Amino acid sequence: NMSENQPVIRQLDDAAINRIAAGEVVERPASAVKELVENAIDAGARRIEIAIADGGKTLIRVTDDGCGITPDQLPLALSRHATSKIDGTDLLDIHSFGFRGEALPSLGAVGRLTITSRAEGHEAAQIAVSGGVMDPVKPAALNGGTIVELRDLFFATPARLKFMRTDRAETQAINDVVKRLAMAEPFIGFTLRDVSGGGDGRVTFRADPETGDLFDALHGRLGRILGNEFAENALKIDAEREGFLLTGYAALPTYSRGSAVAQFLFVNGRPVRDKLLVGALRGAYFDFLSRDRHPAAALFIECDPHLVDVNVHPAKSEVRFRDPGIVRGLIVSSLRHALAEAGHRASTTVAG
Ligand code: ADP
Ligand code: MG
Repeated sequence: NMSENQPVIRQLDDAAINRIAAGEVVERPASAVKELVENAIDAGARRIEIAIADGGKTLIRVTDDGCGITPDQLPLALSRHATSKIDGTDLLDIHSFGFRGEALPSLGAVGRLTITSRAEGHEAAQIAVSGGVMDPVKPAALNGGTIVELRDLFFATPARLKFMRTDRAETQAINDVVKRLAMAEPFIGFTLRDVSGGGDGRVTFRADPETGDLFDALHGRLGRILGNEFAENALKIDAEREGFLLTGYAALPTYSRGSAVAQFLFVNGRPVRDKLLVGALRGAYFDFLSRDRHPAAALFIECDPHLVDVNVHPAKSEVRFRDPGIVRGLIVSSLRHALAEAGHRASTTVAG
């Protein structure tokens, strides 16, 4: 005889599974913006426009001129673990931002999501999903690219809704996310607009596509985002060691900050906050800065995807290097070298 208190094991339905996953993938409006902008970058966009209202709580809209999605693939884009970016055979060979196929189904489970898209040689089409309930694909009007609109984030998960901060704080977090992504993609144009009041709204960040070689473009973009003073005090970093490439700009010690606000680190184009890398940056400036000062730098590490695991966390801001020692050594030695050389140049200029 089964007791009345005997637990029953049930299979959860897709909507419930997606809501649970959403808790991991989308913590707040800024994480939704990050996922949608990364999708646009993965789609090969040259221009990306982001519109938000009320700190992204009521509206996030990302418009891109990328490859688009064909009408028959739209339902798949909203299906869990469906992705065009990997085939699952080699999880260590990842060249795109996305790979989990989780963002769109998660966002569609906790908010009201509409995707309008047009791929070359196909008609434009639209699909909508609200609180995990999907509508059929219907025809739409669009010249090309993709518009993803997310309204009422977390309306389907009231507990999460309660944890959102003020509009101001969420807007600030979105600004930070967009700027970080824009740093790593200087050839892509970004516009961020606050349309809280309705209408065309107010442009809060704008960076047109940069031109020239990678270093010109990066220098231009960093000046745009971190200010001319950073750009004028920035030393070019371009080094390589055992398959790891380190590029970017590091500021002179005289341009240090009182906190770590101006430290931007990227691994294979992905913004990361990684203890190892922050520690290496600090180590490089050890002889040049007093303890209460923090260096300013934007550094990009590129390596074969097999040498780094980005699969550590769904939010994907942590990475694990196969050989952390090489990466640390590369950062410390190339930055020290650049700083020593700049110091030498400065002293010979004074002497001469
Ligand atoms: P992932 O990015 O991990 O593949 P997503 O849920 O974010 O998962 O997206 C699912 C799929 O939808 C992507 O693999 C891609 O094929 C398609 N997609 C999403 N956004 C865009 C976009 N802006 N342009 C073109 N295709 C897109
Ligand atoms: Mg994605």
